[in-house]
Amino acid sequence: MSKLRFDVVQDAFKKKAAEVDTPSGTPSAYFGELVFNRAKMEKYLDAKTFKALTNCIDNGGTLDRKTADGVAAGMKTWALEHGVTHVSHWFQPLTEGTAEKHDSFMEYDGKGGMIEEFEGKALVQQEPDASSFPNGGIRATFEARGYTAWDPTSPVFIQDDTLCIPTVFISYTGEALDYKTPLKRSVNAVTDAALPICKWFDPQVRKVVCYLGWEQEYFLVDEGLYAARPDLIQTGRTLMGHASSKNQQLDDHYFGAIPSRVMAFMRDVEIAGYKLGIPLKTRHNEVAPNQFELASIYGEMNLSNDQNQLIMNVMNTIARKHGFVVLFHEKPFDGVNGSGKHNNWSLGTDTGTLLLAPGKDAMSNLQFITFFVNVLAAVQKHNALLKASIASATNAHRLGANEAPPSIVSAFLGRTMTGVLRKLLEVPSDTPIEIAGKKGTSVGLVEIPEIFIDNTDRNRTSPFAFTGNRFEFRAVGSSANCSGAMTVLNSAVAEQLHAFRESVERETASGKPLNIAVMDCLKPLIASIIDVVCFDGNGYSEAWRKEAARRGLDTETCVPEMIKEFTKPGAVEMFTRLGVYSAKELQARNEVKWEIYTKKVQIEARITGRMAENHIIPVALAYQTKLLQNLQLMRDLFPDDYKTKSQAEIEMIDKISALINDIRRKVGDMIEARKTANRISNAYEKAVAYHAIAESLFAIRRPIDELEEVVDNDMWPLPKYRELLFIN
Ligand code: ADP
Ligand code: MG
Repeated sequence: MSKLRFDVVQDAFKKKAAEVDTPSGTPSAYFGELVFNRAKMEKYLDAKTFKALTNCIDNGGTLDRKTADGVAAGMKTWALEHGVTHVSHWFQPLTEGTAEKHDSFMEYDGKGGMIEEFEGKALVQQEPDASSFPNGGIRATFEARGYTAWDPTSPVFIQDDTLCIPTVFISYTGEALDYKTPLKRSVNAVTDAALPICKWFDPQVRKVVCYLGWEQEYFLVDEGLYAARPDLIQTGRTLMGHASSKNQQLDDHYFGAIPSRVMAFMRDVEIAGYKLGIPLKTRHNEVAPNQFELASIYGEMNLSNDQNQLIMNVMNTIARKHGFVVLFHEKPFDGVNGSGKHNNWSLGTDTGTLLLAPGKDAMSNLQFITFFVNVLAAVQKHNALLKASIASATNAHRLGANEAPPSIVSAFLGRTMTGVLRKLLEVPSDTPIEIAGKKGTSVGLVEIPEIFIDNTDRNRTSPFAFTGNRFEFRAVGSSANCSGAMTVLNSAVAEQLHAFRESVERETASGKPLNIAVMDCLKPLIASIIDVVCFDGNGYSEAWRKEAARRGLDTETCVPEMIKEFTKPGAVEMFTRLGVYSAKELQARNEVKWEIYTKKVQIEARITGRMAENHIIPVALAYQTKLLQNLQLMRDLFPDDYKTKSQAEIEMIDKISALINDIRRKVGDMIEARKTANRISNAYEKAVAYHAIAESLFAIRRPIDELEEVVDNDMWPLPKYRELLFIN
């Protein structure tokens, strides 16, 4: 086994950076080459079809059959030019990642030959077998039909030889079985709620847009080393492994020079991403060794999220070409940072205003403060639900584990905005909010500095941070579909904006000027949040956990418990009223989440047990036998004082026995706990039982990690952290 490990390491060193696919021209020239975007629509569709389709994209509505046929015909012509042979609906079921089912264009031509065919109905709708996807009991398997329906707001693209059509995935009774459907509903809810408020400040506004800018963190490991780690292959994380002597303590990886083999991988990902119309912007080393980040330019939320899902697929494929495997798991390695996916969230108008950025005059600043405060109020009210939205078996290892971010949802405003809010509580409601310096300085004035210097002090411990023109929800896990978190955030903000609008309308109905009515309604909100959800201190500290509980914020750490938030009355009322989730969907989704939680922990527990029994204990015994043989020889040669001479061996033999016994006992207990848990039929209760099992896995790895330090390095059967994390 050690030979295998050695060979693998040697192999990794020899691996050259694979040839980078270098397309001709600059990225802007091939950007969107594989996407059926507006330019392609214009080129490949007749004028009437083009108009009908773009109208549907811009203003909603459904396509009639004739238009769909026209669109499909244009797409087919374009696709055939790119050597495409297959078509697939591309959707996001409640598993991780995306799903696709390919059908070829081939049909009989009626004359004994074949012809490429692609009709509107195949573009608009397909029927995958819904029973094989998680559905929380919405569809019993005997009536397993669900269907996928084209989402024209996300453009069709080509991957390899396949035309991919982004779709929603719904049951025949209309329930969402995917991530995209509720996300789109929530985007509509929040933009509809924001529009009338924007019109107070600018009657020209016709539309509000919800934006997402994601930052994707990930690890790369050499695929040879990966192949020798059953835990990585089956769970995406290491279930054992002693910390390496050097890890991230020197802070020498963050923003460091990117290793050349990694660089080649990144460039290929970018080229593929640009061709798929994904506006990739940033690449850099992250805090942990072999950890990196990729970020795109923010865009309309539904599209931006599709692009995130797509680029994750692209990364998985391209990594293999470079001899790497990408780890999107939130905590692949104990003791070094885990990976998140910061979701930068904001709202903007069709007139080009970002609603979470200061404006140029007092009224636009009042609009900014209005949205700013209402978002915070929404986050405060639904802090437990927001946490539930990012809770998963995998993200649990990252949250609250003394590393960003804690399992408490609070908001970081920075000194500037905290100061502005406090000031607003003191001044009369008609005090204008000015950009500093514009009107000279005056004591009574509420001022916002033109540049947000204070916000550059970036509190990395906060799960929800204001960063100048947006909020950054950092608690989202790296493997997650952003939709889970964004659907909740959009809904919470929508609910709050409706309530706020109603309260302001009550004030203005009695003749109060708008700006004063707005400020009169904002003040009690500010007073209610400023010392509760707003927290600029160290989110990692134990003191904060106590303080947060005192403030009434949710401090639950058990994931199955957190998930319950979705079916509590306040959440059900909010989601149903906004039309984001029905009560049935909420219940079904919770069942799915508990089931996935249970299964993930179950897989980890099984592998931990098997690796302990099949990999670790036999090797430890073999090494102990070597020590015993040595001891026997010593006794033969030095019968009088072998005990003194072999003191170290005797201690090691004892230690190995103790560790092996400890491992066996703990694995045995864990297996018993699983047997008990498996008898539970209620999904929630079972998940809670598995939560305890998840905790027990830490206790099993401890003696294993200690053995790693004792056993002969040549005999150790698994690649170690110092290899996994440093070979690139
Ligand atoms: P940092 O790591 O400092 O947070 P990055 O540049 O890595 O910054 O990522 C910032 C992300 O925020 C990018 O995806 C960027 O496009 C996005 N972003 C910037 N402004 C907005 C905005 N108004 N709304 C949503 N996302 C935004
Ligand atoms: Mg960020």
